Amino acid sequence: MIAEKCNELSVQVLPVLDDNYIFLIEDMRTGALAVVDPTEASPVLEMLDGRRVDLILNTHHHWDHVSGNTEIKRKAGARVIGPAAEADDIPGLDQGVVGGDTIAFAGHIVRVIDVPGNTIGHIAFWFKEAGLLFSGDTIFHLGCGRVQEATPAQMWTSIDKLRSLPPETLIYSSHEYAAKNARFALTIDPDNADLLKQIKLIKEKRNAGMPTVPSTLATELAANPFLRVDQDSIRQRLDCKESANWEVFAQLRRMKDAFQ
Ligand code: FE
Repeated sequence: MIAEKCNELSVQVLPVLDDNYIFLIEDMRTGALAVVDPTEASPVLEMLDGRRVDLILNTHHHWDHVSGNTEIKRKAGARVIGPAAEADDIPGLDQGVVGGDTIAFAGHIVRVIDVPGNTIGHIAFWFKEAGLLFSGDTIFHLGCGRVQEATPAQMWTSIDKLRSLPPETLIYSSHEYAAKNARFALTIDPDNADLLKQIKLIKEKRNAGMPTVPSTLATELAANPFLRVDQDSIRQRLDCKESANWEVFAQLRRMKDAFQ
C-alpha cells in the first residue's frame, strides 16, 4: 500500500483481485474519506477500521468498479457519485454527474471530465489543486482502456482532453497493466529512451511488489504510445503518416487488442 500526500490529501492504493486498484483518498486536515471505484467492500472496510466514508466516486459502471458500493454505503455511510449517463447500472447511486460538474470534498473541488470510450458514460475525477486525476479505465500506465461502448474516435477525444491537463498531474488508473502494456509499447516505439526508462522502473517496482500507479501525465506523454499518435516515429512505423490522430489511435488500439 502506497500513500502519496498532495495538498493535504493522502491517497492509498489498495490492490484487489488480479489487477484492480481501489483508491482511498483522505483529507489530512479533517479526516474526511472518499473511495474511488470500490471493486469490493471488504478491503476498504478493513482499512477504515470503523471510520465513516464521505463519498464513493465511480468512474463507470463495470462490475469491477462498483461492486463494493452498497456494502460500503450501508456500513460506512458513503454518498455514491457516478456518471449520470450510467445511473441505472451504478448500485446505490445518490448523485449522477456529467462533465463540467464539480463536487465538493472536504473543501477540495473535484472536477468531473467526460471521457467516453471504455464505456459510453465514463467520467474521470480531477482534483485540480492537488494535481490528482482518477482516470478509471481511460489512460493506463503505458496503455489505455479497451474501447468497448464508444467509438475509437470518441476514445481518442477523451484521451486528447486528458493530454491537456498539467503535466505534473498524478494519474491514478484503475488497473495494474503496466508490464503487459510495456511489452506492446516496445513493439511500437522501440527507440524511445523515455519508454525504455519506464520499462526498467516498472520491472523494479513489480519485482518489489509495488504498484506502478500513480504515474504522471508527463511520463505518459513521453512514453505511452496511445498519447503519442501524433509523433512521426510512431506514424512511420504504422505506415500512416497522413492519417488523423484518431485513426492512428484506432489502429494502435486494434493492434493492442490482438497483441498476445
Ligand atoms: Fe476495469
